[in-house]
Amino acid sequence: MVTQVHKNIYRIRLTLPQNPLKNLNSYFLRGDESDLLIDTGFRRPECRKDLLDGLAMLGSFRDRRRVYVTHMHGDHIGQADLVCGDDRPIYLSATDLGYYKRFLSGEMDGERLPLYVRQGYPEEILKKTYSTNQAITMTMDHADERLCAVEEGTLLRVGTYELRVISVPGHTPGNTMLWMEKEGIMFTGDHVLFDITPNITSWPWMDDALGAYIESLKKVKDYPVRLALPGHRESGEYKSRIEEILAHHERRLADTLRIIRETPYLSAYEIASRMKWKIRASSWEEFPLQQRWFATGECLSHLDYLKKRGSIRSVEENGVVRYCV
Ligand SMILES: [Zn+2]
Repeated sequence: MVTQVHKNIYRIRLTLPQNPLKNLNSYFLRGDESDLLIDTGFRRPECRKDLLDGLAMLGSFRDRRRVYVTHMHGDHIGQADLVCGDDRPIYLSATDLGYYKRFLSGEMDGERLPLYVRQGYPEEILKKTYSTNQAITMTMDHADERLCAVEEGTLLRVGTYELRVISVPGHTPGNTMLWMEKEGIMFTGDHVLFDITPNITSWPWMDDALGAYIESLKKVKDYPVRLALPGHRESGEYKSRIEEILAHHERRLADTLRIIRETPYLSAYEIASRMKWKIRASSWEEFPLQQRWFATGECLSHLDYLKKRGSIRSVEENGVVRYCV
């Protein structure tokens, strides 16, 4: 499904089967000598069909296409190599490019899996979750030679449009947005979403993802955005949505602290099971595996935040980390 959102800017909507995100927004900008495609969907037939159909409908040719990936998650980078012209760049932040290479080499999971086990995650469930994780199984399988590192302030030109890279670490360590100042258009990627709250998880080699995310929200809150174009689902009012997300994490942090105060020495996995989640499941045991994984990661990022600010501390007992005030 293709929708024009501005002059020479189109949204191609890709379905994400069996995924609570429901869809991904890929944006196509028509230029003079080259076009730009922002985000590309999971590497799976349903996404491929939606993307290729959309591009064909727009009369877009592959050899004219550059690709911009807002961050390294599979639903954004997954098909980048398939739709980018042969000698054209695939832009990604230098930080996420580094993480993506460590992900592809297995180094990231080598670090992350033991970390989750130490946080009380049952090893068997973890393995099962991993083998069915779309982000792991449905993404690009190599560090394509067209990948090109960008950073804060990098300027991209498409026709008469200028897009400036804004670094907003948090959702991923090198997450970015693209800002069109003259038009007041912000491609928010997954930094600001309107119908769902962006998932903030704990990352290897990053000590406080939630703290970084909150700082990144404050950093971009006052941009005079007239049109926000998010990575998933619908658009909305930019600034008030950022305020809502900030308030959401304040409540989450207070809730996490309350659980630890009421029941000290729980593991992160146990704390996650006691937090409130917007999901149709009557108990933690009934949570779909992927959602349990996201919930524990989200909980961990809140624990890291509280720990870094001295509100809680952790002790390790028999290889499991436990938290108390
Ligand atoms: Zn994402």
